Amino acid sequence: MIEITDLTKRYGNKTAVDGLSFNVHPGRVTGFLGPNGAGKSTTMRAILGLDRPHGGSVTVNGRAYVGLPRPMREVGALLDARAVHPRRTARNHLLCIAQTNGIPAKRVDEVLQVVGLESVARKRAGGFSLGMGQRLGIAVALLGDPKVLLFDEPVNGLDPEGIKWIRELMRGLAAEGRTVLVSSHLMSEMAQTADHLVVIGKGKLIADIGISEFVRQGSNVLVRADDQERLAAELTEAGGTVLPGADGALIVTGLEARQVGKAALDAEVVLTELTPQRSLEQAYMDLTRDSVEFQASAA
Ligand code: ADP
Repeated sequence: MIEITDLTKRYGNKTAVDGLSFNVHPGRVTGFLGPNGAGKSTTMRAILGLDRPHGGSVTVNGRAYVGLPRPMREVGALLDARAVHPRRTARNHLLCIAQTNGIPAKRVDEVLQVVGLESVARKRAGGFSLGMGQRLGIAVALLGDPKVLLFDEPVNGLDPEGIKWIRELMRGLAAEGRTVLVSSHLMSEMAQTADHLVVIGKGKLIADIGISEFVRQGSNVLVRADDQERLAAELTEAGGTVLPGADGALIVTGLEARQVGKAALDAEVVLTELTPQRSLEQAYMDLTRDSVEFQASAA
């Protein structure tokens, strides 16, 4: 379990993380989603004690990372896969890290197998492709068999096979009861990997929500009417599912906007609002529109 409470981090006069609070629970993949520059890496660095926050606190399994007696056995992280000595072989790279952290050498061979690098274990890491480098970075994260794992944009630049492999690995780690936090700026990527989403923008929390709830939100019709009770009955009759929404609105699933309009007509109810909720990608863009630091202008 990771607990982040009121975390604030500034670089000069730029506030990268601004009073951020959320928890990351074991047994599920938590997607850490936000546009580039939102503060995801800064938050992950703070979890690992690599950045000193200006305010707030971060604990891993109830303790600050810097106070952990055997940090690699508690938290594994893939932050920057290029942080490898290019002339060192993959196996030696892992052996060095294992040795300085009191991890037995046989664990090195185990993780090489887990990430599928056994056949190139004695090759220099400098000659590795991006995907192989990423696998080596993940091997480092797994070395101490930690209960908590952080992956910062792990699928960046990978081919579809590599992406599928990483997704399955993360799901497997969560299924073993580990705490898995994975960042991405792509909603589509998170929708296929995460069970839970923490969405941030400009260093602030935007949403902390289960993926199924988020998906449900993405394909609804929000409706308000002068006689909601009558409309709800008609909508149910028409095959829709009606749930109470915010401020007395009705949230309808299983019917398109047009069918909702038709049901209102049949029931002779006056609609005061009829809003189709957007797709997942659109919902994410709407959520973060005001917090996107940099938007490329159309060419
Ligand atoms: P993300 O990982 O979501 O893309 P970051 O945490 O990398 O976002 O960055 C958040 C903000 O902090 C950005 O505006 C970024 O430019 C700024 N920032 C991050 N690291 C530094 C640094 N070392 N020095 C100055 N500014 C930084």
